[in-house]
Parts: sequence; C-alpha cells; structure tokens
Amino acid sequence: MGYETELKLFIDGAWKSGEGRDAHAIVNPATANPIAEVPYASRADLDEALAAADRAWPDWRSTDVEKRGAILHQTAKLLRERADDIGRTLTQEQGKIFAEAKAEVLGSAQLFDWYAEEAKRDYGRTLVRPAGQLSRVIRQPVGPVATFSPWNFPIYLLAKKVSAALASGCTVISRPPHETPGCTTELFRALADAGIPNGVAQLVHGDSDLISRTLIASPIIRKISFTGSTGVGRHLMKLAADGPKRVTMELGGHAPVLIFDDCDLEKTLDMVVPQKFRNAGQVCVSPTRFYVQSGIYEAFLKGFATRTQKVSVGDGLDADSRMGPLANKRRPEAVGALIDDAKAKGARVLAGGERGDTGFFFQPTLLADVPNEAEIMNEEPFGPVAVSRPFDTFDEAIEQANRLPFGLAAFAFTENGRRANLLGDTIEAGMVGINTFALSVVDAPFGGVKESGFGSEGGKEGLESYQVVKAIHQA
Ligand code: NAD
Repeated sequence: MGYETELKLFIDGAWKSGEGRDAHAIVNPATANPIAEVPYASRADLDEALAAADRAWPDWRSTDVEKRGAILHQTAKLLRERADDIGRTLTQEQGKIFAEAKAEVLGSAQLFDWYAEEAKRDYGRTLVRPAGQLSRVIRQPVGPVATFSPWNFPIYLLAKKVSAALASGCTVISRPPHETPGCTTELFRALADAGIPNGVAQLVHGDSDLISRTLIASPIIRKISFTGSTGVGRHLMKLAADGPKRVTMELGGHAPVLIFDDCDLEKTLDMVVPQKFRNAGQVCVSPTRFYVQSGIYEAFLKGFATRTQKVSVGDGLDADSRMGPLANKRRPEAVGALIDDAKAKGARVLAGGERGDTGFFFQPTLLADVPNEAEIMNEEPFGPVAVSRPFDTFDEAIEQANRLPFGLAAFAFTENGRRANLLGDTIEAGMVGINTFALSVVDAPFGGVKESGFGSEGGKEGLESYQVVKAIHQA
C-alpha cells in the first residue's frame, strides 16, 4: 500500500504544488525509506498567507456563528468519512499503529464538532449598574493566529488549535511538523471541501525557523500557539516578546505515577502498561516515572515486566502490532543514550533496552531502581521507557512527584478516597489522573504548569485562548 496523499500548501483557498519550491523527503519510520517529498513554503508564500489571513479576518469574525459552526461540523463529518485513509497515511508517516491513528482522526473530528457548538455559548456578561446605564464584558477573536504543532499527535494537536481558533472567529496560518505532512494536509482538505472561505485557513509546510521567524515578526499575527519541547517553546516566546504577542505554550512533561499499596495491582498493571507504550511513549502526558510503595514494588516490577515482554512491536499497518516504531531518527538515538546513562548509574533493565534492527524501532523497556541522578529521571525520554523507584510514605511520594521543573500530567493509583483528594490538591501539575489516564478530553482544559508551559487547550479555556476581553461602559 503506497503513500497516496498529494502534498501541497494551502494558501488563500488555493492548493499550491511543489513546482518551483524546495522539496524535502519524508520517510516511513518503520523502514526508514523515503515515501514522498513535501514542498517547502518560500518567503513569498508566507507573505501571501499573511496577506490572505489579514484580508479574510474581518468577514470571518463577523460571519454568523451558526454558519461558522456549520463549516466546522461539515469538516468533522468529512474527517470521519475519510478516517480510514487518513489513519493509514498517519501510520505510514509517523509510525503509530493504525488503530491509534484512526482513533486520532476521529478525535480530531470530535474537536471540530465540539467547538462548533461551544462558540455559540460565548455569552459574555452584563454588570449591575443604575437604571439606564450599561456595562458589559465581551470576548472577541484575537485576530490572525500562527500555529506550530508537533509530530506525535499530528492531526489531533493541529485540530485542537485550528478548531478552537476558527470557531472563535480567528483566521489561521498553520505550520505542521516536517515528519507528518500527509495527515495534516488531509485536515486542510477537509476544511477546504467543507467550504472554508478563502484566506481563513492556510497550511504552510516547511522550514520551522523561517516560518516561525517570519510569522511571529509580522504585525498581522496577533497570537502564537505552540505545542512541542520546552526549549523550542522558550525560543518562540522570545520571538513573541518583541510583539509583544499572546502565546499559548504546551510544552514537555515527565509524568510521575504514584502507585500506592492499597491499589488493585492487577487492574492497575493492565491499565498502565498499554498506556505507557501507546504511540511508543511519544506522548507529552505519557506515564513515565513510576514511584511504587515498597510493599508492592517487586510484585509491580514482575507484573510490569511480564506484560511489557508481550507487547508485539512491528509496522503500524500490521494488525498484530501493538506498538510501532518511533517517529524519526532522533528518537531511538536519544532514548538509547538515556538508557545507557541510567544503566551506568546503577539502573536494572527488566525488559527491552535495545533498538530494533530496521527503521526507528525501540523495544518496550522497563528500568528499575533508577537513581535521581540518572538523566532519564530528569529529562523526558519521549519514548517507550518506564522508569521506577520504590517509596515508603505519602510525603516522600509527593516530594518525588514534584521534584522536577515540569508540571504537565501526574497520575496516582489508590483506593483510599481521602488520599486521592489530598493527591489532587498537592501534586504540581496541570492535569491529575487518579485511577485513570483519560485526561485529553474535548470538554476539559489541557495544559501545564511550571516549565510545562502556560495556557490551556480544550474545553472553554481553549476557545478563550483565541479571544481578547473587552469591557464596554455606557452611561
Ligand atoms: P524539537 O525540540 O526539535 O522540536 C519540537 C517541535 O517543535 C517539533 O514539532 C518541531 O517541528 C517544532 N520546532 C522545532 N523548531 C522550531 C522552530 N524554530 N519554530 C517552530 N517550531 C519548531 O524536538 P524533536 O526532536 O522534534 O522532539 C523531541 C522533543 O520534543 C521530545 O523529547 C519532547 O520533549 C518534545 N515534544 C513534545 C511534544 C508535546 O506534545 N508537548 C510533542 C513533540 C515533541
């Protein structure tokens, strides 16, 4: 089965092919072989995209919210109808298994449906004033937005930004990640086929540095939304400071998982192991640092290792695969270096630990007794690796959970309700899952604290992130 998506830029309602533009190869991470070439946007393309987003904004912001919503609902419908094809494209360019890829497309459709409706409930408020006077507070679209989204959930994380921005009345210019131009092009094809007016949404593949510098420096762009690593986020915030421009930053995490001895251990293991290896661990909220209460530590390790050894790894299009390769050449190299460092500092390898022979595969891996000095306890592995350590007391567990500068997601497993309440209050994270991993849901905010960024996507907070507040007083 080939890679069938035709890769193009989408600017001012027109598809632009590779002719006259630089083209760069993209590879299938299961084989490391090239499967297509993606055209890179030139400086002239970016100027055209900026002018189009600027020109289209006044009409789009004043388009009736029902009409905006109808286009977003139609986009969702088309994504659902095309989910099999888009899912296959996603698997071929990113590596994740087809079931996860298709679920990601369906989740993206859900975002468009949800924001199409949520925008209608944006009521503002009226303040109490003497008779004849009126003070009201309204939210309005911020203006043309630049989005930068990553390759780990390439269509879902792009949809999160674009659906909320368009629903609120903003126009967008999106730079998708280099690795995954196919599924992101399909998202824009659905928008185009749903009748998005010219200039409202543009897709510019290409050089991240050229695109981010050009778009962020332009006075046309009023807001930047980025998902990716803390380092790149910091760099983009510096560029945005010259505006100064509003930013939403969804950055890295290093999620702790506190396993207390009163949890249902078998049930917990059945949940945590598949969750750890979902998308080969390339998930910003992936459960990573497992702190396990001493009395059940060895039983936990045994159960985790046994289940890990059974995870079948292979091409994501093979129905038997439960985990695919990592998304690019950088990941197995980085993960391998972190594991070597941990081993040298005394960690035990209880499962996996090695690269695959072909493509960008890496074995599902469990490390035990990992010292805090190991790099992997401090730097997000962003790969299929679980690290574990025992703890004795509640306070010690919280101290370990909060010891890093990151604060995206945290998880805990316990049947004790009072402890669960206290955990929710004391863990420093933007999202806490207690006996669950279901954090990325359409109606709840998703975002981090500390160096994991600020601002939220999802829920009404996601819509508000593309709005400015105005108070209007009338005497
Ligand atoms: P990276 O830091 O080079 O890039 C991270 C993301 O930012 C990529 O999507 C990339 O396309 C984009 N990017 C890079 N430079 C940019 C620029 N100048 N302007 C705009 N966008 C730019 O890292 P990588 O090797 O692609 O990924 C590795 C690390 O990134 C992981 O270890 C993980 O910490 C982080 N990451 C986080 C998420 C997330 O969901 N928060 C997603 C992907 C990667």
